[in-house]
Amino acid sequence: MKIAVLPGDGIGTEIVAEAIKVLKALDLRFEMETALVGGAAYDAHGHPLPESTLKLAMQSDAVLFGAVGDWKYDSLDRPLRPEQAILGLRKNMGLFANFRPAICYHELVNASSLKPELIAGLDILIIRELTGDIYFGQPRGRRVSPDGAFAGAEEAFDTMRYTRPEVERIARVAFEAARKRHKRVTSVDKANVLETFQFWKDIVTEVHKDYPDVALDHMYVDNAAMQLVKEPKRFDVVVTGNMFGDILSDEASMLTGSIGMLPSASLNASRQGLYEPSHGSAPDIAGKGIANPLATILSAAMMLRFSLDQEAAAQRIEAAVKKVLAQGLRTADIFSEGTQRISTSQMGDAVVKAL
Ligand code: NAD
Repeated sequence: MKIAVLPGDGIGTEIVAEAIKVLKALDLRFEMETALVGGAAYDAHGHPLPESTLKLAMQSDAVLFGAVGDWKYDSLDRPLRPEQAILGLRKNMGLFANFRPAICYHELVNASSLKPELIAGLDILIIRELTGDIYFGQPRGRRVSPDGAFAGAEEAFDTMRYTRPEVERIARVAFEAARKRHKRVTSVDKANVLETFQFWKDIVTEVHKDYPDVALDHMYVDNAAMQLVKEPKRFDVVVTGNMFGDILSDEASMLTGSIGMLPSASLNASRQGLYEPSHGSAPDIAGKGIANPLATILSAAMMLRFSLDQEAAAQRIEAAVKKVLAQGLRTADIFSEGTQRISTSQMGDAVVKAL
């Protein structure tokens, strides 16, 4: 089992170190190789996704990714910005399905800004399509001013686009995932306004015929955004396009209190995957030893489950995280009265001990 470890920038290095600690505490053998990505790679090699890093990722069974980005790179041309590394990995590895579970842990029910009764027991899975939509549509451009900057430009545009195979495969992923859960899929679109999403809706409905045991409903994205805060427990699996998924998955993640708790997985057709916390590089708290490593540790558990076929080990990690929370141990972001505040590395140690 070969894992490419790409810690990245900001808190990325701190949280990935804790996930590695946890993986090493399992009685499994991994080959792990670390490489630079994002701003750190730009500083060293002049590119956020150097050829050597991409090669390592492609040759591995899974990538454990921290986070990339820092405001100091905001003035770089877009292709050189740290965040481009993620797009490059997604594209080259063919990662088309992004899984973002939003689970509310019993012990953290008061960390949410919603009333406890709305989120207690919450367990939803947002599945976001990653390769199409307005983020990749052509043409993608602008009427440029002579110096190439936006100042003075008259127009800017992006094109929303999906192909039939893209929608079919993400719909199948959603129905398959629902079969292992509560057998309900909500497909989120904007079919009332956008042709692309009428197309999406029709194809999801067609694919559904192969999954009669799963219930399907369709919801407009504006309503879905509202329902997520009004009655989040009505959802089981939510499947949607790249842009709506980007926004809704962040919204769903905050239902549970802290973005520091939420893992994610991006998979390709051969179950090779990239696993990363849902949050970014948090430059505001980097280097302080206070970041919550649990999202990354839980991403490592997803990696064991989806790409490395180690379901038992994945469950051990998830159970260890629950145990640590039950012990009242908290990093600053999830700390509340009556619990014990601990550092990033103490949290990693606590999970290892609970294992
Ligand atoms: P962010 O997710 O990094 O941080 C948002 C807020 O959440 C901050 O206050 C931060 O301190 C807090 N936070 C995030 N993770 C935390 C953790 N594990 N423990 C405790 N608190 C945590 O988002 P942002 O501030 O909008 O972006 C910062 C940088 O990250 C930007 O350069 C952005 O482009 C990049 N980013 C990268 C990814 C990625 O690598 N996949 C995703 C989102 C943003």
